[in-house]
Amino acid sequence: MPLRLAVLSRGARLYSTRRLVEAARRRGYAARAVDFAEVGVVLDGRGGVDLSGAGIEGCNAALGRISPLYTPLGASVLAAVEAAGLACLPSAKALLGVRDKFRAHLTLGRAGVATPATAMVNDLRELPQVVERLGGYPLVVKPVTGTQGEYVLLVRDRAEAVAALRAAADERRGVLLQTYVAETGGADVRALVCGGRVVAAMTRTPAAGEFRSNLHRGGTPRATALSPAEAHLALGAAAALDLDFAGVDLLRTEGGPLVIEVNASPGLEGIETATGIDVAGALVDYLADRLRLPSPA
Ligand code: ADP
Repeated sequence: MPLRLAVLSRGARLYSTRRLVEAARRRGYAARAVDFAEVGVVLDGRGGVDLSGAGIEGCNAALGRISPLYTPLGASVLAAVEAAGLACLPSAKALLGVRDKFRAHLTLGRAGVATPATAMVNDLRELPQVVERLGGYPLVVKPVTGTQGEYVLLVRDRAEAVAALRAAADERRGVLLQTYVAETGGADVRALVCGGRVVAAMTRTPAAGEFRSNLHRGGTPRATALSPAEAHLALGAAAALDLDFAGVDLLRTEGGPLVIEVNASPGLEGIETATGIDVAGALVDYLADRLRLPSPA
């Protein structure tokens, strides 16, 4: 069955959305961007899912480009699209599992994927014990559902930790404290995993005076090659979180690589520009290949 793709995104003009639509069309497939916030779905109460008002008529596959601001809505639309029989990346369940960083770290650790030691802190009275268990300051404070390094803060003592926890805290979301990996100076590696292989990888070096390497914070991307151990860890992280397509962020340490984050809707602009690799094309090819296989019973 040839691919007929809906890219579920809030912005048809966003680089990654545009590239995915273009890559599919260049291969002769039908493709369009669909704003998932405008999708209407009717459940008939007997298990039927009517997506006729959703703008995805005739599509047989959907790629979710869901920003963390829209996780709940995006996951609901993905779940409906899956139920209507479309091949869907990511699955609603995988999206929800990865967007909560605490649960993602729990899943990764249980699957044998190395990450820095990470704690959930819900009450400042727990702080001394938690800090001790993490090996003392400095530590990194991060929100459970943040992105682009927002509220990710390096704290060197109790006063800084309390201020950062208060800034990042949200009792509906929780807040994380994590061992700070000093030896990389904030530089990390982003590996783009697609269908069980690493299709592209780059290092990101933070701007002067910054420990966060996010490109939105002025980090500089450069193409890199992964060691076998790094590739193995990146593939293991994506598999553990049930993501066929993922951006896996690693820290390169003396003791081996550590995963700090897995992104279910990784941006394509930085990595395609830094590496010259057609990541959008690789993702479209993967999805097209999947549709050629008989559907699982
Ligand atoms: P976000 O999802 O908001 O990007 P991350 O957890 O990826 O949050 O952190 C943002 C950046 O901060 C990372 O890309 C990395 O450069 C730096 N960073 C995060 N956690 C650590 C850590 N434990 N040790 C060292 N640097 C870190």
